[in-house]
Amino acid sequence: MSTVSAYVATSATEPLTKGTIERRDPGPHDVVIDIKFAGICHSDIHTVKGEWGLPNYPLVVGHEIAGVVSEVGADVTKYQVGDHVGVGCFVDSCRECRSCKTGNDQYCQRGATFTYNSVDKYGQPTHGGYSEAIVVDENYVLRIPDSLPLDKAAPLLCAGVTLYSPLRHWKAGKDTRLAIIGLGGLGHMGVKLGAALGAEVTVLSQSLKKMEDGLRLGAKHYYATADRDTFRTLRGSFDLILNTVSANLPLDEYVNLLDVDGTLVELGIPEHPMQVGAFPLALMRRSLSGSNIGSIAETQEVLDFCAEHDVTPEIEVVAADYINEAYERVLASDVRYRFVIDISTL
Ligand code: NAP
Ligand code: ZN
Ligand code: ZN
Repeated sequence: MSTVSAYVATSATEPLTKGTIERRDPGPHDVVIDIKFAGICHSDIHTVKGEWGLPNYPLVVGHEIAGVVSEVGADVTKYQVGDHVGVGCFVDSCRECRSCKTGNDQYCQRGATFTYNSVDKYGQPTHGGYSEAIVVDENYVLRIPDSLPLDKAAPLLCAGVTLYSPLRHWKAGKDTRLAIIGLGGLGHMGVKLGAALGAEVTVLSQSLKKMEDGLRLGAKHYYATADRDTFRTLRGSFDLILNTVSANLPLDEYVNLLDVDGTLVELGIPEHPMQVGAFPLALMRRSLSGSNIGSIAETQEVLDFCAEHDVTPEIEVVAADYINEAYERVLASDVRYRFVIDISTL
């Protein structure tokens, strides 16, 4: 065991504070990673605040992890000391179920072991990336291409792959009229990746405050959802809508923006259930779906895709003692567009 510094959540209401956690000694297939940067995902905030049920405190969150290999177990073949690597939202899965065997390990039927707030196969609680080091089985470690700076690579491990996976699954391309709801951490990656895949991207944001950014990031159109005219103008306009909003929305109004056979994919996971009527779906044979992160293979794919196409997130690098303030800014939709913690400041 080794003791490492971390930023720790101790309850749903207290701010995160500096503390320590234990990391296991590397087993034969483990990679020890010296964490350099960790992104702040809204899921970290939902979890810490107990909005998805009370987690096991004390807890260290963070699942957008970028760092450098500092040690490898005896049987590790994929990585060497000094390699640039990442860890995303899960660190293990059963490897035997239908999902795991068909490259959908994020949907492991026995439940993937998430990077934080899970229990690993050794019976220990998992802790995430707001910490100096992590020990992960080599099969759940991603290679970060040399051309991607580590701070910009970090958000690809969750925000990037969470948008990349549905864009590929629903085959977004040059004939796709794509709308992204919410221009935050996930949403801005949806704009960039959607545009890189050739889709015609529209942003649906609460206001026009970030319009200039949205167009610069690759959107062709930008609308404010606070304006009732948006819903009249855009009715029946899209093939694919990706909802990245962290709060409840009146989904019917957004489903009505789909053309015949269009699909709205729910990516945001707000605390409370949302309602949708049967009429907006049935009348135009529209679909409502959801998608959770991406597989290990897709996570590697998005890292390689972003390196090749020079697609990187817009980030604000912050010191560890700014985490609580960063949370407040994320909650106020004041993030441009992902906070990334510089772990050297821990
Ligand atoms: P974020 O950076 O806070 O972005 C969310 C955006 O939603 C905001 O920037 C804002 O965009 C919009 N929004 C916020 N509150 C709103 C409200 N009350 N009404 C309308 N729009 C609102 O969060 P994120 O990190 O991108 O995560 C977004 C959601 O996805 C969270 O629920 C998170 O847990 C979830 N998530 C899911 C997955 C998955 O695999 N499915 C993976 C990661 C995260 P505008 O200012 O442009 O309106
Ligand atoms: Zn996340
Ligand atoms: Zn499985």
